Amino acid sequence: MNAAPPDQARRAQLAERLGQVRERIETACQRVGRDSAEITLIGITKTYPASDAELLLELGLRDLGENRDQEAKVKAAAVPNARWHFVGQLQRNKANSVAAYADVVHSVDRPELIVALERAAARYQRTLDILVQVSLDERPDTGVLGPRGGVIPTQVQALARQMEPCRWLRLRGLMAVAPRDSPAMPAFSQLSALSKKLRVEYPMANWLSAGMSGDMEDAISCGATHLRIGGALLGKRAQG
Ligand SMILES: *Cc1c(COP(=O)(O)O)cnc(C)c1O
Repeated sequence: MNAAPPDQARRAQLAERLGQVRERIETACQRVGRDSAEITLIGITKTYPASDAELLLELGLRDLGENRDQEAKVKAAAVPNARWHFVGQLQRNKANSVAAYADVVHSVDRPELIVALERAAARYQRTLDILVQVSLDERPDTGVLGPRGGVIPTQVQALARQMEPCRWLRLRGLMAVAPRDSPAMPAFSQLSALSKKLRVEYPMANWLSAGMSGDMEDAISCGATHLRIGGALLGKRAQG
């Protein structure tokens, strides 16, 4: 990837969208009496070029995220001064790669991932902030989980316990994606209750990663501390 001259039109567009997203956050916070300073906006740059990630960083957005290792490692190498969040489903054999550039992994949902990430983080001597991804897709009628990863709520505690002796993994909280075909609000309230419960034993686990372009207001009203925003910042994606 060659450094193209910065595209002034694109910069202006990203600046405008960033302003709009920050305004939505501010308004949503005011409505529920929260301070927007407690919210971290993560720009999800998937499918967009590293030059966009660089522009967002220049515009003052320090936290960026990706959902696929292949794409993430290229952008993280191109934009090393950002704080990189890995938010996608993670295969165990990618743990080594992800631990090299990610500061935060939002999608831990299996015991073997914890083992693999701890080993990888130890190798690089990098501490990783970890969120346990919870599936809010469970259909009570079938008990079948949705396709997007996450543990069922009753498994959260077990993963938290497994992380206790980990030297390089720091449990910071929970992450979830709203269900695809039901309203976000009940799911986010459920997530918020799970978070409260987790914090009784793990007070440090006070991050709540919830809220995307379409549902950030609901997430904020349910206590989200980390918003993962793609489309509203970068534009509509064809897919992904
Ligand atoms: C793509 C993605 C986002 C961003 O979604 P938008 O609707 O574009 O804001 C957030 N979280 C995860 C896990 C994603 O894969």
